[in-house]
Amino acid sequence: MRNQPALWPTPRWHLEKYQPDEPVLYFCPDVLQATAQRFLDGFDGTVTYAVKANDQMAVLENLIGAGIEAFDVASPLEMQHVRDVNPQAILHYHNPVRSIAEVAGALKYGVKSWSVDCLRELEKLADLPRNGTEIAVRFRLPVAGAAYDFGDKFGADPDTAVRLLKHACEMGFRPSLTFHPGTQCADPGAWATYVTEAANVARIAGVELYRLNVGGGFAAHRCGAKPDLEAIFARISKETLRAFGVSAPELVCEPGRAMVAEAFTLAVRVKTVRNGAVYLNDGVYGALTELRDIGVPERVEVFRGDGSTVLGRAIPYVVFGPTCDSLDCLPEKMPLPEDLREGDYVLIRAMGAYSASISTGFNGYGRQVVINVSEL
Ligand SMILES: *Cc1c(COP(=O)(O)O)cnc(C)c1O
Repeated sequence: MRNQPALWPTPRWHLEKYQPDEPVLYFCPDVLQATAQRFLDGFDGTVTYAVKANDQMAVLENLIGAGIEAFDVASPLEMQHVRDVNPQAILHYHNPVRSIAEVAGALKYGVKSWSVDCLRELEKLADLPRNGTEIAVRFRLPVAGAAYDFGDKFGADPDTAVRLLKHACEMGFRPSLTFHPGTQCADPGAWATYVTEAANVARIAGVELYRLNVGGGFAAHRCGAKPDLEAIFARISKETLRAFGVSAPELVCEPGRAMVAEAFTLAVRVKTVRNGAVYLNDGVYGALTELRDIGVPERVEVFRGDGSTVLGRAIPYVVFGPTCDSLDCLPEKMPLPEDLREGDYVLIRAMGAYSASISTGFNGYGRQVVINVSEL
């Protein structure tokens, strides 16, 4: 049994007592487990976790503890991370482009679910054992609603998807369809459009689907109102029944962001404030990388080192990271208190996804400490 890591009461308590000078990711295992439970209770199908959002061992352990049994993995190394935590975990290899060596590597992990989006990638899987192996054809539509679209990189157009689905079926695989509506998507209509088209693709191919994987993309609470996950789940179920009728396939989802974001709060420290700009101890080469692509978050609080809240009127600041690179700057100004000063801590909520996992160590920065807390 592993030693349980220390559990501090709250980020504020920890900051006041230890005055950390490095960026800290405060992790609340209870929040992660509650989110997993929300997906397991609300989504009418198999819930898998997209490991790339955050592959920390503590995250995987808590998800497994909460009852998540299957994982969407993109590489053999991610497979290893998952199996290190649970040798029985089910692995869905849903990165649709793989080298021959990666196919061989994944086979050693016993992968039985693969996604493809073109004929060449399907051909690479021709020698796989059939015993119940699933091929999920990934298709794409020009659908709006997400912070940014994944369709530029992956996904067959519906006509190609029809041919691939037929072909996978003829090859003796279990035929499925999959899509990803794009990340940070809060619009149930995006899933509805995809589910409807999935039924068309299956009908034209003359194939009864084994499963329909509705992807990740579920929004985290970064700005504005809380995303209504349950409304999305309900819409997916409703549209699946409507579009497929009695031959409705089993559903699978693979959230990354919405599963893990809320379980972490990032605390960054102000190194200096000058000429309307604030220099933080983390930036776009660290945990703030993704802000360049999806914008500045709104759920931000500022604490003094003594634990008090900095409540001054918010004014827009240019925000720089700690490296000596002028690109290390947030894409837009961020509202922060006018009385912000050196040594203050800026706490940003819902930073568990695509933060630590894409941090670099550039210039000797960008390595966050993870501290467990019982409440965020
Ligand atoms: C990244 C990814 C996900 C997770 O996406 P989120 O927007 O983080 O939910 C799910 N499935 C696949 C195939 C992915 O590449």
